[in-house]
Amino acid sequence: MADVKTSLAQFEEISSNPQRLLQNYLDADEKVIACFPIYTPQPLVLAAGMVPMGIWGGQCNAHMAGKYAPIFTCSLLRSCLEFGMTGAYKGVSAAIMPIICDTFRGMNSAWRAGVKDIRPITFIYPQNRKDPGARDFLIEELKTVRSALEEISENQITNEALQEAIELCNQRNAAMRTFCETANEHLDLVKPVDRHHVMKAATFLRPEETIERVSALTEALRAEPVCRWTGKKVILTGITCEPDEILGYFADNKVAVVGDDLAQESRQYRSDYPAAASGMERLALHWFAVHGCSVAHDDNNTVRGRMLAQLAKEQAADCVVLCMMRFCEIEEYDQPSVIKEVTRAGLMSFSIDIDQSTTESGQALTKIQTFAEN
Ligand code: SF4
Repeated sequence: MADVKTSLAQFEEISSNPQRLLQNYLDADEKVIACFPIYTPQPLVLAAGMVPMGIWGGQCNAHMAGKYAPIFTCSLLRSCLEFGMTGAYKGVSAAIMPIICDTFRGMNSAWRAGVKDIRPITFIYPQNRKDPGARDFLIEELKTVRSALEEISENQITNEALQEAIELCNQRNAAMRTFCETANEHLDLVKPVDRHHVMKAATFLRPEETIERVSALTEALRAEPVCRWTGKKVILTGITCEPDEILGYFADNKVAVVGDDLAQESRQYRSDYPAAASGMERLALHWFAVHGCSVAHDDNNTVRGRMLAQLAKEQAADCVVLCMMRFCEIEEYDQPSVIKEVTRAGLMSFSIDIDQSTTESGQALTKIQTFAEN
């Protein structure tokens, strides 16, 4: 029990203080590359001998960012821009920005105007994922990322180094999936916010550190008696489910999180880089292996809802909670079809607003309480 508590406390510390971790890397003379969400090709950063660190914004009132980002920009990118402009990412060598939605197109220019000291490295994920030329297009895009990283690191990225880095990331994915499965047997010890801290810390840590720490936590959990959870269970879907207070509302009402499809959490770890002779091809093929994700267009709009219904069934969940990032058009676009499929499968669903510019979550509390009481 003590091992589990100590480990969870360490994950909370990392998740809540990424700047401290960044400073540790910089003090060790590491070059750090900030990785905007989602599906940033982290293996390229590792193969160049640098550290990839995810950036997910955070709770803030974005005063400075308002100069370049309109009020209807999602709070995730608005807070990232605010932190960039106010020096929170000081010391990182560059920021990789995958253009996965229209908001990112504006962010590219806003970042260049507002954050002069951190070079953006942008590339485009093709939303037409069926065209035979899409794979080659993406490889060409990724080559521009590779060149920029080679220039910054002054290292050449070889196919061998890239393949090694890809294998490491696949091992990290496996460790994260195993943790999630094991955590579901110990819902008395791993509260929704604890689960979130583990998942979020993994976006900041080097993959090898994640594997070591998460595997140790999983082993410590396995040594504990299995918990027979008698409260309700939910699956979360969306971009993020922050701030921590919202996850606290679930725990306060004896509702456990037994699975997720959050971009900040499981979406990153559920599909591995497929096998191929060249590392660049593997990075590109990964994009075409992504399914049921709002940022990767799928002609069949039932895929995500059916995937969530299946996950809920496997984990005996009662409900799918849509965590709607305010002003995220692509999540809003998916919402009706997700609700339709989930309802068709006989499950409950409700949505809560996610907005990093405010700590007011009264609406979420009311919905969670209502669900828990019925
Ligand atoms: S996908 Fe949604 S949350 Fe993510 S950057 Fe685009 S608008 Fe913002």
